[in-house]
Formats: sequence, structure tokens, C-alpha cells
Amino acid sequence: MTSASTATTCPAGTTRSAEYLRLDETYSAHNYHPLPVVIAEADGAWMTDVDGRRHLDFLAGYSALNFGHRHPRLVAAATEQLGRVTLTSRAFHHDRFGPFCRELAELTGTEQVLLMNSGAEAVESAIKLARKWAYQVKGVPADRAEIVVAGSNFHGRTTTIVSFSTDDTARAGFGPFTPGFTITPYGDADAVAAAITERTAAVLVEPVQGEAGVVVPPAGYLRRLRELCDEHGVLLVADEIQSGLARTGELLACDHDGVRADLYALGKALGGGILPVSAVVGSREVLGVLRPGEHGSTFGGNPLACAVGLEVVRMLATGEYQARSRELGAHLHARLGELVGRGAAEVRGRGLWAGVELAPGGPTGRQVSERLAANGVLCKETQDTTLRVAPPLTITREELDQGIDAITDVLAR
Ligand SMILES: *Cc1c(COP(=O)(O)O)cnc(C)c1O
Repeated sequence: MTSASTATTCPAGTTRSAEYLRLDETYSAHNYHPLPVVIAEADGAWMTDVDGRRHLDFLAGYSALNFGHRHPRLVAAATEQLGRVTLTSRAFHHDRFGPFCRELAELTGTEQVLLMNSGAEAVESAIKLARKWAYQVKGVPADRAEIVVAGSNFHGRTTTIVSFSTDDTARAGFGPFTPGFTITPYGDADAVAAAITERTAAVLVEPVQGEAGVVVPPAGYLRRLRELCDEHGVLLVADEIQSGLARTGELLACDHDGVRADLYALGKALGGGILPVSAVVGSREVLGVLRPGEHGSTFGGNPLACAVGLEVVRMLATGEYQARSRELGAHLHARLGELVGRGAAEVRGRGLWAGVELAPGGPTGRQVSERLAANGVLCKETQDTTLRVAPPLTITREELDQGIDAITDVLAR
């Protein structure tokens, strides 16, 4: 984007913001198109910009901020750890590592965890685990393993992951691509059945597709994938980086269907909105295929990450955030549902997570996001025509209503 377009969408009289926008424009790679708001502070569901204006956070860092900004329990855990030890590398053990691994495994009903940092790393790790498992346990011939994925997926930005993206913008100019992936339409279990061969290591899927527009698959899809994986000796890998950790009203989005995956990729909210923490969790049979030197990360599982992650796990173990997401989510969906025919074509989602499909011919997702920002509510379009609503799970009903009122007003114009 040009600085001229930044300036025109910048609310009047924002000299401080304008300076920062110019710096970003000049010195940062243009790999994002942020709304022209420059945040200086945040607390709970609120962010304050450099000009002192307050904004209600209706995006929650794409679910990285499920517990809101600077949750006191998480800040206390991080602060306490900052006073002890922050980094050891995995060359040595540290006393936050084992407890975090154990409690994360217990919370997710799994046996072992592999700690990484970003979501993309967790997905990459799951791919490596599935391939290694296929060669060692399933007996797939060397270098011939296949992974079945879904169209419109979002699993991250690495070269291997964009190799099986169906988003041209994410792929164009970044080849050559990694082979070994078969793409099937999302929600189509028959296509997955047809794609599975003796060389299939895994089916990798988002139980709800976030970036695609908060798309919930047809009823029975995940169950059928589970059955197919059982029938053919294939791992079911659920990318719950955005959908997991209470966002949909259950700990994991797969829980809505009573489906257990063999591997879960977790990230985003696992870091409590403080630092990147990701993990692959699953059985000893699968995680056990890794030997020293075969995979790793300098920062993965560092003491600070483990201290914060452990507190996240303990907060989730209370069930409070899942319940909030269910209850407030029912209210959110009831109210957003009223917008269908009033600026919205469809509302999808689960729990405190919604994709508002904008009516064709009306304003774009970007325009709606900008108008909402001018009204003190920050959320962001995904695709061109969907508004993604994902407030922190700590939001109050009054704050939630305030944000929904703003969406209602903006869509009615
Ligand atoms: C955000 C996301 C990722 C990638 O996470 P990063 O931390 O940005 O690398 C992967 N999968 C899903 C479903 C996501 O939402």
C-alpha cells in the first residue's frame, strides 16, 4: 500500500499515528496490510493507541490473545520467571519444562509433547513426525510418504506449508514446492477416501478453518476422517492452532464431534498473548519416533515459554474459558444472526468466534474493518468478504454488546 492511502484512512488529527505509520511504511517489509491504528498499550479487551484513543479488541491476535491483553495470572507467571531463568537452550534440562509437558499432555489427553515456538513450526514438526512414523512404523518406502490436506487450508507460511496452500497469493513466487501432499476439497470426506493410498502417512486438517473465513465443516466430516484414518492406518493430524484452547467453547474444536486426533498442533493462545509457544501433542508411539538431533529448536520449550504455557494450561483446566466461550458465543451468534439480510449474507462459526460473510455488492471486508476502527472496534477481514470476529474470551457481555452494536451500525449504513 502507498503512504497516500494510509494517510487517507487515518482518522483526522492523528499526528503521532501518522509518524509511526510512515516509519512502518519505509522500514518494514510490506508483508501485511494493517489497519492504520498504532497501539501503545493494552489491557483486557482494550487497546489504547499512541494518540490516546481506546479500541475494543475484536480480533484477539487471531486467537493468540484468548485470555485478553496482559492477563494478571499470566503476567505474574512471566514476571516471576523473568526473575529466575529465561533461557537455557535444550542442551540442559530446566525445572519448568517437565511440569509444562506433563500438564499439557494431561490437559489434552495425550501422552507426550514436542515444544516449538510458532504455529508454522508446530505444523512442520507434525509433518516430520507423520513422515517418520510412516517409514518406521507403517513401513512406507523411503521418501514416498504422502499427506492428504484440505483446500482453502491455512497452516502457516514456510516453504513446505505454502507448497500445499490453495491461496495463490501465499504461493506465487515461492516455488519450487515440496512434494508429497494431496489436496482435497474441505468438508469432502469421500475425496479424502479417494486420496488415501498405502503410502499415506496422515490426513492434516483444521477442524474449523479460520483464515478461510471461520468455516465449520459439514456434520460428520471429522468423524468420517477418523474412521478412514483408522481403516487405513493413517494418522489424523488436527491443526488446532487457531481453533483450539477454548476458542470454540471446547478445549479443542475436535471435541465438538467427539473425535480424537493422533496429533494436535497447538500454538497461538498457548503463549498467553505474551510470547510464541507452540506444541505438537500426541501418543508416545508417534512422538517416540524422534531421536536426538533429528528435530529441534533453540528457543522451543524455554523456561519463560514453559512458565507462561503452564499457567495457560492451568487456566484452561478450570474450564472457565470454555464456558465463557460457549455462553458468550451463543449470544454473539444470536445477535450476529440478526444481521443476515442487513448487510450480512451468512454468519458462521462456533463459540466466541464468527465469520460474518458480507452481503455481495456492499462494502468490502477491508472497508467494514476500517469503518469499525473509526468507531473504536478493531477486527479484521479474512478473504475479501468475511469479517472475522474473535474477541478475547475474557470479554464481558457489555463489551461484547458494544462491539456487536458497532458492527450492526456499520453494516446498516
Ligand atoms: C496462525 C495459524 C498457523 C501458523 O501460526 P504462526 O504462529 O503464525 O506460524 C497455523 N495454522 C493455523 C490454523 C493458524 O491459524
